[in-house]
This record gives sequence, structure tokens and C-alpha cells, in this order.
Amino acid sequence: MASLRKWQWPFRCSGCGSPFPGEGFPFRCPQCESIFEFSQDLIYDPRSVDKRGVGLSRFLTSIPFPSDAELITLGEGNTPLVETELMGRRIHFKCEHLNPTGSFKDRGTAILVSAMKHAGVTTAVEDSSGNAGASFAAYAAHAGIHARIFIPDSTSGPKRYQMEVYGAEVIPVPGPRYAATQAVLEAVDKGAIYASHAYLPHGIAGMATVAYEIVEQLGGRPGSVITPAGQGSLLLGLAQGFQALLNADEIHEKPRLIAVQSKACAPIWAEFKGVKSGLSSRSEGETIAEGIRILNPLRSEGVIASIRNSQGDVIAVAEDEILTGWKEMGRRGFYIEPTSAVVWPGMMNLWDHLQDPIVVILTATGLKSYNPRIA
Ligand SMILES: [Zn+2]
Repeated sequence: MASLRKWQWPFRCSGCGSPFPGEGFPFRCPQCESIFEFSQDLIYDPRSVDKRGVGLSRFLTSIPFPSDAELITLGEGNTPLVETELMGRRIHFKCEHLNPTGSFKDRGTAILVSAMKHAGVTTAVEDSSGNAGASFAAYAAHAGIHARIFIPDSTSGPKRYQMEVYGAEVIPVPGPRYAATQAVLEAVDKGAIYASHAYLPHGIAGMATVAYEIVEQLGGRPGSVITPAGQGSLLLGLAQGFQALLNADEIHEKPRLIAVQSKACAPIWAEFKGVKSGLSSRSEGETIAEGIRILNPLRSEGVIASIRNSQGDVIAVAEDEILTGWKEMGRRGFYIEPTSAVVWPGMMNLWDHLQDPIVVILTATGLKSYNPRIA
């Protein structure tokens, strides 16, 4: 690593309260190995939003970001909010699948990779089932950081190829998703810097800009926001963003946050509903929603607290419902990956309980996933 510059991120250890160190780039607390979390609310400053800028960069003063850092950007953010009518209601689709690498992850990666560059990191490792790895590979390439990415060997061909084209060193790991994490942790034990989108909180700040954009585009607050949830980083970012908008008097009530999981792997749903067993909630079952097949979300307590705090809900949906949702979205002109399609049955199941305006987040493109064949 080159020389390290000091800047205090507003993060603290969730275990012992230690601040995120001004030097180095640990993925968890060096003292007690707990994860870092935000130590304060984000501060949204409407006067400093850059009216003429593009995308996420417009909001740099309303998220934690070192004043002397360069934003590593590929033009993420500024995604369209597309309206459609459904059974007499207006539904607003937030098209996060149109970000530079094809997923919402780019907003978080822009902040994380900028932070690493600012800290003097020149090479880093990551593990991913696909979209996060592709995103990290792109931004690392743009920043001149060497990326080594451990992927489950079941990762879809196009996502793996995408990482390789960005110049990342891709290391396929046989076995389930957690085997890739084990492999990356072994590399970290040997001294590698871990650019973990799951452990590190930097990316959540980038996700908050989705909330900022939605309120701008709608001209007010949404009633309900529906999103897939695996680790729940997007949901946490939305919660942070809407809280900051509320604190700044830009909105007067927060929207209800609705998280959708696959029944094949629904730990957040099980915790939220108080389900002790059954419904494969505590297993890593087969699902076409592979991007949210996360058995042990690192921030599940925070995710559940954020949903409760918004008067929101969690719903788990079946495989046939996800497939139906994927087809329905396609028929409306949205080519998203099956993981992203969980929002459709989520919306249908809660239809009578949703507050308008309804915003549905489309998280990733269908152009690089293994997709079911339909007649
Ligand atoms: Zn600690």
C-alpha cells in the first residue's frame, strides 16, 4: 500500500464502539472482529445538491465522503423512475438495472472504491455471487486498483466474463456460496485488503442516494418502497436516505419499506415474523433468485429495525411466483434478472396494504444472468 491519508468516516464498531480507523482498511473491527456500522444519521443538505451534476456525484455532500477524495465514478445513479398503470394504480419502477455494470451495486461500489483509493489501497480481494463482483471489478479497473475476486463456480458465465473483461483476477471456488467467502477470508488472513460490499458500511451511504433521487423524481415522498433483500444493504441505504430527508424537512413522513425474499432462503422474513422453523427459512435452498440467497445476513438486526421503524413489512415468495413476476415484468418491457423479479409477487401479495405512491426497485439487468426459458 502507498502512504495512507487520514479521514474520519462516521462509522463505529457494532461490538465495542471503536471508530473506523483513520489508517488502514480493516473489513471488521481489529479489536473485537464485529462489523462497523454508522455512528450517526446521514445529513441531507438540499442547498448543496449539485443541480447541474450527473447521478450520484450530485449528492456527495449529503453522504459521508472525504472532502479531499476523488470520486471514482462511471456515471452511476440518475436512473429513470418509470411509471406504469396496474389495476387502476400508478406504479413507479426505479430502474437500478440501468446502472453502469447493470445493477444497483454500482452506487455502493463507487463510494467504497473511492474510499479505498483515498486510503492508498492498490490491490484488494472481494467475494461475490455475481453483481457485486462485476461492479467491484469495473470500479477497481477505473481506479487502477488490482482486483482479485473469489466467485462460486456456479456464477453465471456472462457475469464471470464481465469481471474478466474489466481485468479482474477471477478465482472460481467449488461448493456453496459461503465457500467463496471462506476462500477470501484465507486470503485476508495472509494480508490481503478485503473490499467487502457486505462487511464494510461505505456502500450503504451510496445506496442512500436512491432515496434522494426517488423523492426528487416523485416530487414528494413515496408511500411504499418495495425491494428485494439478501444482505439488505439497499434497504439500509434507503432507510438512511429517507431518514436524512425527514431530518432535513424534505419529507414529513417516511415511506413503508417492504423487503422481499425467496421462500427458499428467507432468514430476514423468519426473524421478522418470529418463525422458529419451517418454510426453509433457515436453509440455503435452490432458488432462481440466486442474488438474494444469503443465509446469514450480516446486518439483519439493523435491516429488521429499519423495516419496523418504517411500519414496513417482509414477505417471502415462492419460486412459481418469482417466475410469474419475471414474465410479467418482461411483458411490460423490463428485462431484469430473476432475483429482481421477487418484487412483483411481493407487491401482489401486499397489494391491499400498500400505500400510494408505490415505488418498486428493479435491482439488476437480465442481460447477464442465467434465465429460465419460457414458452
Ligand atoms: Zn470492536
